[in-house]
Amino acid sequence: MLQKRTATFDRLLGHIEGLPVIDGHEHMMGPEYLLRFGEPIAALIAGYVSHDLLSAGLDNQQLAVLQDESVATADKWPLFESYWQRCQHTAYARVTKLVMRDVYGEQEMSLPALERIGEQLPDRDPAYYRKLMTDAQIRCVITDALGWPPGDFGAFLRGEQVFESGWHPVVPLPFFHVLPHHEQSARDWRGIQQIAAWANRPITSLDEFEAAVFEILRLAKSRGALALKDQFAYNRTLAYAVASKGDAEPLFNRLLNNPNAALGWPEAKPLDDYLFHQYMRFARELDYPVQLHTGHMAGSFNRVDKANAALLAPVLELHRDVRFDLFHGNWPYMGDILFLAKNYSNVALNLTWLYIIDPIYAQNMLERAVMTVPHSKIHAFGGDYTDLPERALAHLKLARHVMAAALSNLAEKGWLEEAEAQHIAGQWLFDNPKRFFGLDHL
Ligand SMILES: [Zn+2]
Repeated sequence: MLQKRTATFDRLLGHIEGLPVIDGHEHMMGPEYLLRFGEPIAALIAGYVSHDLLSAGLDNQQLAVLQDESVATADKWPLFESYWQRCQHTAYARVTKLVMRDVYGEQEMSLPALERIGEQLPDRDPAYYRKLMTDAQIRCVITDALGWPPGDFGAFLRGEQVFESGWHPVVPLPFFHVLPHHEQSARDWRGIQQIAAWANRPITSLDEFEAAVFEILRLAKSRGALALKDQFAYNRTLAYAVASKGDAEPLFNRLLNNPNAALGWPEAKPLDDYLFHQYMRFARELDYPVQLHTGHMAGSFNRVDKANAALLAPVLELHRDVRFDLFHGNWPYMGDILFLAKNYSNVALNLTWLYIIDPIYAQNMLERAVMTVPHSKIHAFGGDYTDLPERALAHLKLARHVMAAALSNLAEKGWLEEAEAQHIAGQWLFDNPKRFFGLDHL
């Protein structure tokens, strides 16, 4: 519990639990792609909690052992238990506990509990997945699933990979960056040829590359893609300078001149900056909202200062006709992102992932956002999980508690009437993302 239970909290939670939800960000392909596990520790640590195990000191080889389904649960248990004990009170671990309790009826982590869970693991199927989502009132899912298997962006463009009704894919922008250290990008000849193949036209110059990207984005829109999504804050700074084509083109030509060439960082920055601004122009022309990762990054040993949304100010300022959906509360830089949302009419806040990064921060952010940012600009939920629906729904459960805590706090302090608090919750979870993403059919 994040809040002392009060009558107001209970009433608001009850109201929020009945509200329909637009899930503003997942990495799910949908019910047919349900991830299945044959061993309970591997199953339970799939997702973010493994990052807290690493943060607690587990090393990558040890993690590989815990993930190995051929290692017996009893053999892994001593290693798992020693690290679980260290991180079991984090919000990531809370998701694991909620899944254990709500899905498997187990109240505590123990070897016998894991062995009972192991017996239930093979039961999951797509119908179960659909029912979970429906029971949780999720009316539609905006999903970034085409960037890695089983997603296949090329097949999607050809109309061969389709999503179930209610599932809306976004275009992964990482494909179109030109930076090293990212498998999917156009960092070299191979990546550029992949884009040429998707656009079904040759690329022999920077102009042709840009035209090919535009054609792909246009085609993706015609196949139902709802937004552009970028998470390159993992790999570079969010400071995208307005770069001249004169600075960008020689770098691109180096890739064309030699199939073995690849650009390094920071030398590739002018080209990558130039292209990013081009993509924002394409977003304007094709009327795509743009979803951007900001703040905290999954995994470890990354740098969060380069991912601070404050660095995006020149992009937000310049591309005023593009609607930006900034992710994750910019954790830990809350003030910076509240400023951006207050200051720029083209910025909305998407709290995807935030409730399991830091639920108290999420609660504070919602309370402060009510007072600082028009409530029409908040997209309150995204689970940010792959095809592990139980995790996303445990996250949603926690998110609903956090929303009820924030709104009941404001109601009890006299800032909001209870009816106003209820109205805001409905806007946050459904009406705002519906309008922002043009989901008129809902
Ligand atoms: Zn994500």
